[in-house]
Amino acid sequence: MTNSSTPDIIYTKVDEAPELASASLLPIIQRFASAANISVGTRDISLAGRIIAKFPESLTEAQRIDDHLAELGDIVKTPAANVIKLPNISASVPQLVAAITELQGQGYAIPDYPENPATDAEKEARARYDTLKGSAVNPVLREGNSDRRAASAVKKFAQDNPHRMGEWTADSKTRVASMDGNDFFSNEVSATLAKAATAKIVLETASGETVLKDGVSYPAGTVVDATFMSASALGAFLADEIEKTKAEGTLFSLHMKATMMKVSDPIIFGHAVKAWLAPVFDKFGDKLEELGVSGNAGLGTLLEKVAGEPEIMAAIDEVTAARPPMYMVDSDKGITNLHVPSDVIIDASMPALIRAGGKGWGPDGKESDTNCVIPDNSYAPVYDEAVKFFKANGKLNPATAGTVQNIGLMAQKAEEYGSHPTTFEIPAGGIVKMILDDGTVLHQHTVERGDIWRSASARKAPIEDWVNLAIARQKATGFRSIFWLDASRAHDAELIAYVKPLLEAAGVADKFEIMAPREATRASLETITKGENTIAITGNVLRDYLTDLFPILELATSAKMLSIVKLMQGGGLFETGAGGSAPKHVQQLQAENHLRWDSLGEFCALGESFMFLADAQNNAKARVLGEAVEAATQGILDNDRSPSRKVGEPDNRDSHYWFARYWAEALAAQSDDAALATEFAPVAAALAENEAAIIAELAAAQGGAADTGGYFHPDAAKLAAVMRPSATMNGIIDAGA
Ligand code: NAP
Ligand code: MG
Repeated sequence: MTNSSTPDIIYTKVDEAPELASASLLPIIQRFASAANISVGTRDISLAGRIIAKFPESLTEAQRIDDHLAELGDIVKTPAANVIKLPNISASVPQLVAAITELQGQGYAIPDYPENPATDAEKEARARYDTLKGSAVNPVLREGNSDRRAASAVKKFAQDNPHRMGEWTADSKTRVASMDGNDFFSNEVSATLAKAATAKIVLETASGETVLKDGVSYPAGTVVDATFMSASALGAFLADEIEKTKAEGTLFSLHMKATMMKVSDPIIFGHAVKAWLAPVFDKFGDKLEELGVSGNAGLGTLLEKVAGEPEIMAAIDEVTAARPPMYMVDSDKGITNLHVPSDVIIDASMPALIRAGGKGWGPDGKESDTNCVIPDNSYAPVYDEAVKFFKANGKLNPATAGTVQNIGLMAQKAEEYGSHPTTFEIPAGGIVKMILDDGTVLHQHTVERGDIWRSASARKAPIEDWVNLAIARQKATGFRSIFWLDASRAHDAELIAYVKPLLEAAGVADKFEIMAPREATRASLETITKGENTIAITGNVLRDYLTDLFPILELATSAKMLSIVKLMQGGGLFETGAGGSAPKHVQQLQAENHLRWDSLGEFCALGESFMFLADAQNNAKARVLGEAVEAATQGILDNDRSPSRKVGEPDNRDSHYWFARYWAEALAAQSDDAALATEFAPVAAALAENEAAIIAELAAAQGGAADTGGYFHPDAAKLAAVMRPSATMNGIIDAGA
């Protein structure tokens, strides 16, 4: 629960690169905020912290951590919430196991992760660990809809310093392949509930009725969808695309979202592994089953498990030789697209490929045209249309392109991203029915064994809030505003039935267009190509996809995006960028003590957080701090103070020195608050006078290995020593803190 000790601003403690950066940046933020009597505290949502919070009875008093995620889940439902949310690990099983092993090594007596739980204790441990898997944090915190855009300083910087883009040519063989039916898109049915209801989902088969899920409750006005993807249609489609790829002479690639869509997408991925190795599964199916091999964990795990079976290995080699070349995650190490389900994630992989001129990396370490397989048609048309647009028009010019902002329906686990508890791999052929407590059969589908059936929903209050947010952004910007909704898709038709009357009631219907994703993609690309701007008003999945696609094309990265969650109860959640926790950056720091993480997303979120505090609490000092943060962020961009990628060159810590300096200089220069100006004038002067010494101390730290005392659970003192290596700078920052 929130209590009197809730800080004014909560800065989340997370994992990997952003957590390393926080060790350097947070002391600066706390020091500056304290001058305005604003407290900035942390809550721990790191994977290690979340594991520790799950097993209090196994730990000493000193080791225990409260369940900060649950506390934050309550805080975000209060009007005073002001949370800066950095990216955290959405744990796969291997990451979870690695974190457990590390904590055990540090003396935390937590149980092993039970792969096959047998005893009650193991089942209990497994159940607790299961709650930590996948995307377990964002759905709890995102009690609001999303407003994502490039801050104007960031956009201007990208136009003035355009990044390199691969050439697109009209004869590119790259294309997007999707099923021609029997997918989630075509099988979808949807209805809006007139009154509150509780549903159960049952499977009726020849041998009786199985309850797949009971007690799913929805408030009145909820849009409830149901759909399924046919396993046999998927298998046939994948087999066909593998053959077509070979005939076309391109790379075979599959693009899924196995992290977020943690139930459905690993299954689809498994079908692709099975299709790829179909002759092996046909011949050795029983043996593979005996060895516990399913395709769902990927080709990497499969190869490990059959390593001692020469006959199977030979068969795999034979099949592989006959297959088209595969799109690679790491061609040096032989890691293919199908090795690990979470290696190729569609929202990052497709924009990277499009930015590269439609090229993927092949097994020969060279770039090639690629067949991009995205089985379901719900969102694939976005990428298909983008590919077609660039083939016809050539690459985007980031120097002149306008911007696509996003208003995304996200609150309360909206749409597919909230569907995991109601997604099932059908165990036997029959009829799936979704039955309401008054006996109404809301939805039903005839299914076969192996089909993937799911129900997703979107609640009324979030939908209305989302439309209002769109109205406000359109009014604030005057940009061309498009609802990306397909009148011919069942779910979208229900949403349109909400959207149109709300726009009409607000008298702004003429300011908005409604287009299916394909048409909206084309319209948006045409708009930004002309140097004009547009707002994409989308559902939850497209919010995720588009806030990588357009930023990566416009700015080269989504990490610098402003990402605001307008909490429905009035609070603010400020996500830092739209990217993740960059594990590769940690590897580099450990090896050569250089951190290439760019904290620009944190700077942008911090500015917004102060401004929000200023408005919410009528706190004039918060506004002064916030405006000075914006000036400092601009200073970082204008003077090119972002981290370099190479050891020996300025890194994340140097950028924090400049950030502190520009921030102090802006505070010293302003005249709205004399006390703050007086306090920060000497800080600014000291940082400037000692520039050479500080930069030298920071540079001297680089080059060797860095020990932070843990990957998932670093040692605070060691981490601080690595990330704050300038005694001169620490002296200036810590004085008066
Ligand atoms: P990622 O962390 O975004 O990293 C992909 C690459 O993007 C990085 O290697 C880096 O490129 C670049 N990048 C991202 N943020 C950057 C920044 N601030 N500064 C400079 N470069 C940046 O994506 P991922 O590897 O797919 O995911 C890693 C982890 O993040 C996973 O555990 C995932 O679950 C988690 N994740 C969390 C969130 C969230 O909490 N909101 C969102 C997405 C992913 P270079 O290596 O080329 O420098
Ligand atoms: Mg994304």
